Amino acid sequence: MKKVELYDTTLRDGSQTEGISFSVNDKVRIAKKLDELGIHYIEGGWPGSNPKDKEFFKQMQKTHLKNALLVAFGSTRRAGIKASQDKNLKEIAGSKVKAVTIFGKTWDFHVTDVLKTSLEENLNMISDSISFLKSNGLKVFYDAEHFFDAYKANPEYALKTLAAAASSGAEVLILCDTNGGTLTDELVGIIEEVKARIKAPLGIHTHNDLDLAVANSIAAVDSGCIQVQGTFNGLGERCGNANLCTIIGILATKMDMESIPKSKLKDLTQVSYFISEISNVKHDDNQPFVGHSAFAHKAGVHIDAMIKDPKSYEHIDPHLVGNRRRFLVSELAGKTPIVLKAKEMELELDKKSPKAKKFLKLLQDLEHKGYQFEAADGSFEILMKKAFKKYKKFFDLEGFKVMVEKRKDDRVFSEATIRLKVKNKEHYSAAEGDGPVNALDNALRKALKEFYPNLMNMHLSDFKVRVLDAEAGTAAKVRVLIESQDETDSWTTVGVHENIIEASWQALVDSVEYKLLKDQSPKR
Ligand SMILES: [Zn+2]
Repeated sequence: MKKVELYDTTLRDGSQTEGISFSVNDKVRIAKKLDELGIHYIEGGWPGSNPKDKEFFKQMQKTHLKNALLVAFGSTRRAGIKASQDKNLKEIAGSKVKAVTIFGKTWDFHVTDVLKTSLEENLNMISDSISFLKSNGLKVFYDAEHFFDAYKANPEYALKTLAAAASSGAEVLILCDTNGGTLTDELVGIIEEVKARIKAPLGIHTHNDLDLAVANSIAAVDSGCIQVQGTFNGLGERCGNANLCTIIGILATKMDMESIPKSKLKDLTQVSYFISEISNVKHDDNQPFVGHSAFAHKAGVHIDAMIKDPKSYEHIDPHLVGNRRRFLVSELAGKTPIVLKAKEMELELDKKSPKAKKFLKLLQDLEHKGYQFEAADGSFEILMKKAFKKYKKFFDLEGFKVMVEKRKDDRVFSEATIRLKVKNKEHYSAAEGDGPVNALDNALRKALKEFYPNLMNMHLSDFKVRVLDAEAGTAAKVRVLIESQDETDSWTTVGVHENIIEASWQALVDSVEYKLLKDQSPKR
């Protein structure tokens, strides 16, 4: 079986994502997670130029990695000085890492117009920097920045930079599509020409500006690149980097190539969720292999075919990558998905039974009132368990009060108080929030956390409100959809009422109950 090295750059390229900022502790947790999954190289950042990264490398000295090698990142030395005088290179050499990736200029125009030095000096900068780091006992990878654009502009010079890196001891030369604008056939053509002239092992680093980062990486592997660089969930600036989740999925299930160990493939979805959670972003539902919707089936005819054979609308078995098949339920789809859903929850339900009919009727009534379960899998599961008496209450609400106050200075305050009974004991709590729903959420969890501490590991990741058409003579209802997320999963819950706070409350309670149910029976 052919082997491909995976090089993760989530901690550097990924931290460039708009809206994402990793703390040192976040970075340590991500590194450990990637190590457990079996990623070969984890790029930690720039120990030379960034105090947070320097602290990270210090912390990592105390952390034992089982599989991965931690890699520092830096640029070639500055023009006109010795490598041993370069502050950043000295920091890297002193950071106690065993491997480093150095990036250098490949594109002649970048050398003369951005770096403002001679083409010759740039070649010296590449070889000096690599030689210096090698002489300090480091394994060195070389990132050829803007390689494909550089090659198109001046192929001879681009090849000279690679030759300089190879002859000074770089172990892998990584061809970077830094601007992400290269088409796949162009990229493959250039790699073939490089292979004819340069004998060192090659790697690939692509950005996703054409939505081709994964395709380009896979094509590069096909052309003989032995190392693939990318980020989890495709994080990265602009349109992101090559998504390692998809790449790992493709290598394992479509190309029979070894990357992470086979036994770890089933952890892929969970690691992807973990990284979204730490990044504090909503996990992308449509992500191949690991997305919440990647194996979700909605249309009735699809579902019928799926029951006969899952192959009919799935390219792989979702369990291979730790994901799961979902049937989206709506009144339109009839009884079949309900029966399937019941099976998923280990509830016995015959399609023709009066129980099934009764439940379908309940569903139709609720949908008529404005509930929608197709998107709200969490609420649906709770509804079903309640209907089939498979549900034990976690708490009873005695009442809540929400207050919003606007003051003269334009500031707005929200506070919620809540009374509830847990295990026959009454509890009262009050909390503030950014808005009334947030205050209610805080108060609810404050009241419950003593009994159910795991509620602190979830949070609301999305909140949607829709006004439903009012029937003549009645006030318009609103439908609230709340999406929640923890480190392994995401789920959506729904509430409907004329009062937006009540609608939110319904969705909020379902969300909390779903989390409690889910943690009670972990294997789902
Ligand atoms: Zn990059």
